[in-house]
Amino acid sequence: MQLETTPIRVAGAQVWGSQTQPVTRPDGGDPAGHVTVADPEHVEAAVSAAHHVAPEFAGLPAHRRADALAHVSRRLTESREDLAAVIVAEGGKPVRWARAEVDRAAATFRLAGEEARRWVGDLQRLDTDPSGEGRIALNRRVSRGPVLGITPFNFPLNLVAHKVAPALAVGAPIVLKPAPATPLSALFLGGLLAETDLPAGSWSILTVPNERMNPLVTDPRLPVVSFTGSGPVGWGIRDLVPRKHVTLELGGNAAVVVCADWNSLADLQRAAQRIATFGVGQAGQSCISVQRVIADRSVFDQLRDLVVAEVQAQVLGDPEREETTLGPMIDERAAQRAHSWITEAVDAGAHVLTGGRRDYARLEPTVLVDVPPGARVDRDEVFAPVLSLRAVDGLDEALAAVNDSDFGLQVGVFTHDITTAFRAHRDLEVGGVIVGDVPSYRADQMPYGGTKGSGIGREGVRYAMEDLTYDRTLVLTGI
Ligand code: NAD
Repeated sequence: MQLETTPIRVAGAQVWGSQTQPVTRPDGGDPAGHVTVADPEHVEAAVSAAHHVAPEFAGLPAHRRADALAHVSRRLTESREDLAAVIVAEGGKPVRWARAEVDRAAATFRLAGEEARRWVGDLQRLDTDPSGEGRIALNRRVSRGPVLGITPFNFPLNLVAHKVAPALAVGAPIVLKPAPATPLSALFLGGLLAETDLPAGSWSILTVPNERMNPLVTDPRLPVVSFTGSGPVGWGIRDLVPRKHVTLELGGNAAVVVCADWNSLADLQRAAQRIATFGVGQAGQSCISVQRVIADRSVFDQLRDLVVAEVQAQVLGDPEREETTLGPMIDERAAQRAHSWITEAVDAGAHVLTGGRRDYARLEPTVLVDVPPGARVDRDEVFAPVLSLRAVDGLDEALAAVNDSDFGLQVGVFTHDITTAFRAHRDLEVGGVIVGDVPSYRADQMPYGGTKGSGIGREGVRYAMEDLTYDRTLVLTGI
């Protein structure tokens, strides 16, 4: 039993408990593994250890934290193939996307190690007014304290890295709770963290059933909750602990705008290729997957035909195979839900240009046009390999269409015109505007996060470090 079941990590140590759960493959078939479910005493031990180690950990020299993070980064790179296989098995992500995720996680840890060495705060003049003559302020960034990190299934390694690495970089202990569908990648990372000399208690990785999460979320010994996942769960957590520092990285219905000046055949081919790759690749299960394509009417017909061709060229298949670009969705229920939204839109007047059929957890990559206003496939987060295309007349209408959303994570704008780029940046109510590419572009050092229903706060290594700390000011007089 113990050999077959992956242990959780309580204060860094491997622990097997009284309960286990299978980790199912999205496609069905044999489980990808079995994982220990934390008993209440394991949760207590992890939280208590984080609480007690916090002062010591905050004082750990920067070089020790930086070296530990750099070590994990190197080991992630060395473990690339093994880890990619785990991500494929438990998440159904195509192997080429899984390898890219391991590379990004290695970058996230490397960046955090680099930032840990220069992380300090700032020095501020106070003699800018007569009352401040002879004074200076030293603003030191101080950890807010132990963090509860909660992560989703769709990037089961790199989103865990985005919680763990910045916390360790600023000296904040973290208790990480991975998604129930994909705990094995996070626990693999735990094995690499265990090779470092970070103090016991500075990190734990635990599986906890959703219905047992409230005591953990409300525990006062974890003053920070950093959540990535769906809106309803995230906002529910915020309501539960209004006095805690809560960061929410939630979903969206990301749009791409193709402007009138992006009109050569080469331009439109590039846009179509990127839209298809990041609209239906990895089954559309990214918070910044392309969902809404808003194209100027002058380029719409040509773009539409190219997008359909590119989507048809995507390979829906076994995620272990090199040529596969999209595998199953995370489970049958997710595919059923997305399929029902397509049916609802079609019943209301939308047309399917390609795709639209479902087989168990596999949903064919789907392109829709004539989607009526208010259809869920457009208005809500579809989180599936489904694109909705619409034509607009001019930039004003395009930007208004992007903003006509309850979400605001990122947007892509295909234009050659610098004025249009600045206009989009000024007027779009989103966390990031990507010019010349799709909204799905993310570099791990960028500030990343949303407006409106897409969340509160920012990640991206340095920005997460800011989020996990606060300024404590020392005013010196007589300087
Ligand atoms: P989810 O909200 O179902 O689950 C996310 C995490 O919350 C899981 O670990 C889950 O076990 C946990 N959880 C569920 N109920 C809880 C509760 N009552 N208390 C505490 N924790 C609870 O999301 P998911 O289906 O795993 O992931 C998909 C969602 O994540 C999509 O909406 C996607 O857009 C979003 N996402 C956002 C980002 C971002 O950075 N903005 C990145 C990736 C995914």
